[in-house]
Amino acid sequence: MIIDAHTHIFPEWVAEKAISTVIANMKGRLKAFTDGTLGGLLASMDNAGVDLSIILPVATTPGQGDGILQWIKASPSSPRIIYFGSVHPEDPGYRDQIRGMAEFGLQGLKFHPAYQNFPVNSKEACAVYEEALKYDMVMYFHAGYDPSMPGCDYASVKRYAVLAKDFHGSKMVLAHGGGYREWNRVLDLLGNKGCYFDVAFVLGSMRRDKEALELYRQNEDYFIFGTDSPWRDQKRYVELIRDSDTLTPEQKEKLLYKNVQKLVKF
Ligand SMILES: [Zn+2]
Repeated sequence: MIIDAHTHIFPEWVAEKAISTVIANMKGRLKAFTDGTLGGLLASMDNAGVDLSIILPVATTPGQGDGILQWIKASPSSPRIIYFGSVHPEDPGYRDQIRGMAEFGLQGLKFHPAYQNFPVNSKEACAVYEEALKYDMVMYFHAGYDPSMPGCDYASVKRYAVLAKDFHGSKMVLAHGGGYREWNRVLDLLGNKGCYFDVAFVLGSMRRDKEALELYRQNEDYFIFGTDSPWRDQKRYVELIRDSDTLTPEQKEKLLYKNVQKLVKF
């Protein structure tokens, strides 16, 4: 069994434009491995042997939370797909949106402090997390460096350390191993704090990095598989884990599907 906990798709009518805009923002230093649609993701999953994917939308402006929920409700459902919701911390309607998402059965929310333009440990954002926790939702965060917003510290390891303390015991996932190329800092400030980490986008570089491997070794029950599809190739990521000779068979199982099942019901 293989679960990809970190994927993105877009509504059919904007997928092509969304993909080309992201690539243009990255000045072409990024490639898309699907066409950004649900059909494209399902084809990629078939090709890679991925059984289930979690889709992580981001409400980049206040007000978009409603639209995201409408879109999810209108999307064809597939037993192989789980949608998380997203709200913007500056949206005055966030309480109703979170309730609507929870009532529809969404099990988590994605936050991207850089794209959403808020410090992850701000007072306003913490009020939103409190609301999500009333419904026992998973809080899935972009963490650390983002190549399209290099100077932004809103998702820094230090800020997450505050959050991990204040929200200890809640279900938190920090994407990209908690902070790209800050592995020692992540280990010091966030290791063994009950935070989960995914390997999305950064698996290729983590596997060759001693400090990243140490972070993984000390937190192997908290690492989950994610790719960041379409921005990474699911097939290649599955192969990197399957063919790894540094991971034991037990570690591969935990990473590929067992750990994430502690957070999300499939
Ligand atoms: Zn992502």
